[in-house]
Amino acid sequence: MWSCINRNLLHPLLAKKHGSRHLEYSKIVEKSQHDPREVIEARQWAAVRRLLKHAYTTVPYYRELFDQIGVIPSDFRSIEDLSWLPVLTKKEIRLQRDRLLSSAFGKSKLFRKTTSGSTGVPLEIYVDRFAKEWKAACTLRSDQWSGWKLGERVAKVWGNPEYQNQGWKGKFRNLLIDRATYLDTIGLDESALANFATELNRNPPSLLFGHAHSLYLFAQYCDRNKIMEIQPKGIISTAMPLHQFQRNLMEKVFNCAVTNRYGCEEVSLIASQCEQHQDLHVNSDSILAQTLQDSQRSDLPSTGNLVLTDLVNFAMPLIRYQVGDVVTHSTNSCPCGRGLPTISRVEGREADYVLTPDGKMISGISLTENFAMKISGIEQLQIIQPSIRELTLLIVPGSQFSSASRNEIDSLTTSLFGPDVRSEVELVDAIHQDPSGKYRFCISMISNSPPNETMRN
Ligand SMILES: [Zn+2]
Repeated sequence: MWSCINRNLLHPLLAKKHGSRHLEYSKIVEKSQHDPREVIEARQWAAVRRLLKHAYTTVPYYRELFDQIGVIPSDFRSIEDLSWLPVLTKKEIRLQRDRLLSSAFGKSKLFRKTTSGSTGVPLEIYVDRFAKEWKAACTLRSDQWSGWKLGERVAKVWGNPEYQNQGWKGKFRNLLIDRATYLDTIGLDESALANFATELNRNPPSLLFGHAHSLYLFAQYCDRNKIMEIQPKGIISTAMPLHQFQRNLMEKVFNCAVTNRYGCEEVSLIASQCEQHQDLHVNSDSILAQTLQDSQRSDLPSTGNLVLTDLVNFAMPLIRYQVGDVVTHSTNSCPCGRGLPTISRVEGREADYVLTPDGKMISGISLTENFAMKISGIEQLQIIQPSIRELTLLIVPGSQFSSASRNEIDSLTTSLFGPDVRSEVELVDAIHQDPSGKYRFCISMISNSPPNETMRN
């Protein structure tokens, strides 16, 4: 009952209050997902052409780049011609800063996102209002593929719940509208897991949402404590690759299918499984996904470094942005019949849970986010836990990295791990991915055994 009121009354009222059109856009993308592949590709090509023209005329970085290469937007005759442009790296984004912003927007009117980097590389991205709302509509569409519907209760296994930083208004909004129960993935222990399970029993969620490894950890907890009553309509696993053994346990314990989703903060949703739970549909209404090693034959699956062109954020155009993951484009057609192209595999962004001396666990994703966002001057970061009382931080330092940053690291380590853990900083030139494309940004040498056994020690 409340879900229905929430969906049909409160959400529209709140959108109206904030002048947000995301619910309107949501109706458009609900319809367009069933368009045939050719229609989707034609729409993407039209968007690319608009973007190239816009970038050339209003963005200093692209104006200079096009001039250097000796091309103008009308020279591009097909999507493949985008390969004339070099890839846009995270390093280049940091270097260019405001030169990537379009003069057609006032900076003060844009939405600033500081991304942690779920890959350990902090970045600052600006998004215009249309892009923000359009992307929210696309994300809502894929969220609903899981079986959950807007307005229904959600349980999130996630670090740093945002609403807690927004005072009473945030709490009020969460209670009535967002309806999310959180299990904070910083400082997890048996009692936090038990409280979360009790809360979900009392107020059953329609959706369980979180990082793959955090959801798995909660599934393990429920499994060993024989808690089988938590049965949402769906589960969305995101932020890192979902392994088959994790999916199997979650589906057994929570008695519903897991929807695997892939995104990054810079462009939001990249791809998601639909209700068929096979390959992941690319969010082609917002992005163009290409791989650097694209094969010339479209009937063969191609694997390579993913480069994304954001088709809707005109405030800060990202053209051929190398996100840092390796993906395989699929040639299978999904039984759902949607024309959205598909990805069968994503490699990258693995992270372990780390342990504190008092038996708490911290999600590697949440931990990296904390360090990457709170410490000044970090260009890239990898965290290694060699023993229970040691933490090694491999850091590619930026120009702002100083002795103050080292002090910040010490105090953040103490606040998260307690006074007995010592952190050591090693400055390095680069942190490399495995040749497979896998990138482990948080490695624990001591948490390889199942969490329940580690916690009993
Ligand atoms: Zn499908």
